[in-house]
Amino acid sequence: MAVSDHVDLPTFMEGVKKRNPYQPEFVQAVQEVAEDIFEFMQDKEEYHSQQILRRIAEPDRVVSFRVCWEDDNGNVRVQRGWRVQNNNAIGPYKGGIRFHPSVTESVLKFLAFEQTFKNALTGLPMGGGKGGSNFNPKGKSVREIMRFCQSFMTELYRHIGADIDVPAGDIGVGGREIGFMFGQYKRITNNFTGVLTGKGLEWGGSLIRTEATGYGAVYFLANMLATKSEDLTGKTAVISGSGNVATHAAEKIVQLGGKVLTLSDSGGYIHDPDGIDQEKIDWVKTHKTHRRGRIEEYVTAFPKATFVAGKTPWGVPCDVALPCATQNELLGDDARMLIANGCKAVAEGANMPTDLDGVHVFKAAKILYAPGKASNAGGVAVSGLEMSQNSERRSWKEEELQQMLKDIMSGIHKSCLAYGDQGGGYIDYVKGANIAGFKKVADAMLAFGVV
Ligand code: NDP
Repeated sequence: MAVSDHVDLPTFMEGVKKRNPYQPEFVQAVQEVAEDIFEFMQDKEEYHSQQILRRIAEPDRVVSFRVCWEDDNGNVRVQRGWRVQNNNAIGPYKGGIRFHPSVTESVLKFLAFEQTFKNALTGLPMGGGKGGSNFNPKGKSVREIMRFCQSFMTELYRHIGADIDVPAGDIGVGGREIGFMFGQYKRITNNFTGVLTGKGLEWGGSLIRTEATGYGAVYFLANMLATKSEDLTGKTAVISGSGNVATHAAEKIVQLGGKVLTLSDSGGYIHDPDGIDQEKIDWVKTHKTHRRGRIEEYVTAFPKATFVAGKTPWGVPCDVALPCATQNELLGDDARMLIANGCKAVAEGANMPTDLDGVHVFKAAKILYAPGKASNAGGVAVSGLEMSQNSERRSWKEEELQQMLKDIMSGIHKSCLAYGDQGGGYIDYVKGANIAGFKKVADAMLAFGVV
């Protein structure tokens, strides 16, 4: 086929929309990647003729299953579970498990698609996958959560394995849930193996896995600021979310001399003009994780802060912003407001928190803007290191792992520069990350022929 005969971007996207009806998040994620990849592929005949992007945008498989469990009152409850195995060209499928009522096949397909590029960017041999359920852990007892996790794993175990597919945590799935799922896997298979990451330190987990996503996002942000000869000292930061990623991002900002002004949850955001220091972050961690509380209660503990119900924090003036809660939480108008208020850099801790309009606003303003697949890759990177430690049957020291995490984030930053440097001091990190991630997966796929 001559290069001029290739389908163009709108035709390609029409096909994606047609094949994936009612899956807006998945279509959005493919669109964001395709915009850059089509330009990159213009003169690369083999990627076209081998339909590489079309193949990456068609998951290897999507497994959907029923998850039955009994609540504490003896009622039978039925949820839907999924595992999306998107692409294993460069290693076993790898990606988290999300328990949240908003989980759909579209959400998990977008996450597995993004994960494919993110994992390639880490430089570690990991393919892309994602899983989860529309189960809502909020308000459930620990025993209900345990029974749900066990039932979920009773089906999932046949689709995963240390060299097949290695899930981890995500929204609603932390160390406790990983423990319940690992326990059930081990019980069913009689096999103690590194089949999940994010495990407890006593049973195969890795140091700094819990901190890695948030810390990594801030290391990436520091790398971006360094291209302008700046650092985080004295910078004000607006952060959304108050879970694993948000609290650890806040912690690293504080360690590097910045001042964190906000945190949030699905109820609204808190604004603390004095700054959310380490002591306050520790309070939030205990409150949200162990007491399962709401961020709203922060203002009772720290009365100088204010709580704004039902809103995201993007209207608070800041130097840097880190969306760390969920997808599509930062819209075009939010992006415009951040820029109008002087925000210089945005590093995504969450996956696809900025909608397409917002992405275009950041790109047009030419600010430092890192997409999640680059800036939040620290978590999966340390998961990859957990897999290596499990294979070696050893545990590496914290200092070694901290250094590896920093090196991996710098490596991802370099890859973004390699393909995203637009000249005149502007780096398009979205383009850089998309192309660097795509190229690695695509070249592996070419080697395998038509499979
Ligand atoms: P947690 O469950 O620990 O925390 C999620 C936070 O986001 C909570 O504060 C939650 O508030 C808020 N949130 C969730 N859904 C919504 C919503 N629909 N609207 C507003 N707020 C919401 O999850 P993580 O911190 O692990 O994950 C956060 C993001 O980071 C996700 O996008 C995840 O995919 C991404 N990520 C996570 C990694 C990890 O290692 N954990 C790795 C890479 C990316 P509430 O308590 O009210 O629900």
